Amino acid sequence: MTRVLILGGTAEARDLAAWLSDVPGVHAVSSLAGRVTDPRLPAGDVRVGGFGGPAGLAAWLREHRIDRLVDATHPFAERMSASAAEASALAGVPLLALRRPGWREEDGDDWRRVPSLREAAAALPGGARAFLTTGRSGIPVFAARTDVWFLARSVDPPEAPVPSNVRVLLSRGPYTVDGERALIREHRLDVLVTKDSGGTMTRAKLTAARAYRLPVIMVDRPRPPGGVETTGDVAAAARWAQG
Ligand code: NAP
Repeated sequence: MTRVLILGGTAEARDLAAWLSDVPGVHAVSSLAGRVTDPRLPAGDVRVGGFGGPAGLAAWLREHRIDRLVDATHPFAERMSASAAEASALAGVPLLALRRPGWREEDGDDWRRVPSLREAAAALPGGARAFLTTGRSGIPVFAARTDVWFLARSVDPPEAPVPSNVRVLLSRGPYTVDGERALIREHRLDVLVTKDSGGTMTRAKLTAARAYRLPVIMVDRPRPPGGVETTGDVAAAARWAQG
């Protein structure tokens, strides 16, 4: 039996778990951080909550006799990916990163790339009506721009109290281009702020922004830990996980 731990919280992680659940001789466990109140659960066994840093994860890998570790976390889950790289070395368990490619600018796009949420907030023009899709934890950074109005979309509510220049829209992807266009029109949005998450689930907002010639402030991905074998392909990750 090959025992696999999938660090999850993404569509790719769920695809991989579904794939491996059909493979004889493989037992996969998916791990979730536990941030979302009602997460989409992957197929097969699931554990929830942090490991207690790299040493905690290394101990977990040993205790559960894990043969292969797949880091399929979100490209912005920087601490978990760093912890996976360190724990893999500590426990001697091979690691593969399953990471979807970032988005690419196309004809008609008007993107400005910035390295952090703070710089994204600083880049907003005064008086803007911004569509903010960078997640609830970053909302306070943006709300400090009291000269800008925000439609902030998140899966779970942000911490109360919500600042008066922020209107929260609770929802979870996938989204359609028509739906995103309707939001832009209804709220008279004139700039989009997003992280370079990549993938198809939340890409429709970029197509809608292009259609309305909205500028996009794109927060670049953090640098992943060095020396980790990486794929963007779930099938390749599934083959690797089988050993
Ligand atoms: P993070 O800052 O990299 O991680 C913070 C801590 O949360 C980690 O050190 C770890 O705690 C724990 N953790 C994170 N992912 C975990 C997992 N899959 N299983 C067990 N523990 C986990 O992560 P984050 O950006 O807050 O993201 C949290 C989760 O949400 C990730 O699993 C990610 O895939 C998912 N997600 C994130 C984003 C995003 O934009 N960041 C978007 C969509 C989904 P210990 O150190 O105690 O082990």
